Amino acid sequence: MRYITVLGSTGSIGVQTLEVMETMENARPDGLSTYSRIELLEEQARRFKPDKVCVVREDKAKELKAKLSDTDIKVLSGPEGLVELAESEKSDTVVTGIVGIAGLIPTLAAIKKGKRIALANKETLVTAGDIVMSEAKAYGSEIIPVDSEHSAVFQCLAARVNKEDYEKEVDAIVLTASGGPFFGRTRESLENVTRAQALAHPNWEMGAKITIDSATLMNKGLEVLEAAHLFNMPLDKVEVLVHRQSIIHSMVRFCDNATIAQLGVPDMKLPIQYAITYPKRMIMTNNELDFLTCGPLTFDKPDTDTFRCLALAYRAGGIGGTMPAVLNGANEEAVALFLQDKIRFLEIADVVEAAMNSHKVVTNPTVDDILSADKWAREYVLKSLHKI
Ligand code: NDP
Ligand code: MG
Repeated sequence: MRYITVLGSTGSIGVQTLEVMETMENARPDGLSTYSRIELLEEQARRFKPDKVCVVREDKAKELKAKLSDTDIKVLSGPEGLVELAESEKSDTVVTGIVGIAGLIPTLAAIKKGKRIALANKETLVTAGDIVMSEAKAYGSEIIPVDSEHSAVFQCLAARVNKEDYEKEVDAIVLTASGGPFFGRTRESLENVTRAQALAHPNWEMGAKITIDSATLMNKGLEVLEAAHLFNMPLDKVEVLVHRQSIIHSMVRFCDNATIAQLGVPDMKLPIQYAITYPKRMIMTNNELDFLTCGPLTFDKPDTDTFRCLALAYRAGGIGGTMPAVLNGANEEAVALFLQDKIRFLEIADVVEAAMNSHKVVTNPTVDDILSADKWAREYVLKSLHKI
């Protein structure tokens, strides 16, 4: 029996991971976590009976401890509790379903234990990709992407048999983008869009933060940086193509122009399952792609004048050092403010850009430098809020 730690088990990725795991005979979830949603975590804990759970918010952790006092389940708390879960000797894989840079420290802790990381938390690679990838190499930890585009690229690259000449043979990674709910719109028409409109994603049901990122195209920008780290590619070899139907999950173009794509219905359960079972595949039902009804597949160029976050992400990646952490931290704060109706949709890109313009980059940053840059960017955005 394999045991799998699910960080962020109360979120969109976490809940789907548990659904996938219910279909597996030889793997069980062990170690679950939430930020504050203890009702759902209690239900999950009673159902899956992990040894430990973690509630990041201390007051909520106390409440859950009382609720679970009739069980042997240990209730941890705070960010230290997440690290203890990530380091558990029992599990061989950690699914990182936490949203935001909060996922970085527990992911690094799991890497240092040599575990497999089923990586959903893209912010980890965006902010600290160099460190994460080199630690993974040093500790023999496999990083298998859960993000659907990166899972697709990972599967396409598996078609290469030649183990040499990687840089020569791979011409480009082509990440597909749905375009989000505001595809085709002009800047003027986006001035007064509401939170509800931005949360209405056409193809995917996801947590609130990534859904807003999909509407601004910041999600694709973060994914470009994620792909560059995961697949060791320069940014100019990571391309973005709008594909409204989200059937082609991404592609790899080789030097002879052969292009390999991975197709499927838009459903995160396949990439989640594959990251757990890799290199094996396991039967999955109810997700067959019907080519006769999935409609024509269309392709468009991304509009980076309207959706400036995508261009900002390329810029931050090109500058490197602590700049991607500033892009990410400013964006996390801006999205939270948008979700509280405190800033407008187009201001998300404005404040991210302003933070980037004011940041003094630290090159070859340590984890502490990255966390400081993140904190600085968040404070910068909050300060600029009072000026808006
Ligand atoms: P959700 O918001 O649905 O879930 C996030 C999870 O993280 C919840 O369990 C939440 O707890 C917990 N959490 C939130 N803040 C903190 C914190 N500060 N410290 C510790 N835990 C925290 O997000 P998603 O599942 O949509 O996304 C998770 C990650 O996966 C993101 O990085 C996203 O980009 C990535 N991803 C998601 C996809 C999807 O389909 N959802 C697709 C591809 C990538 P609580 O329930 O208490 O809020
Ligand atoms: Mg994605």
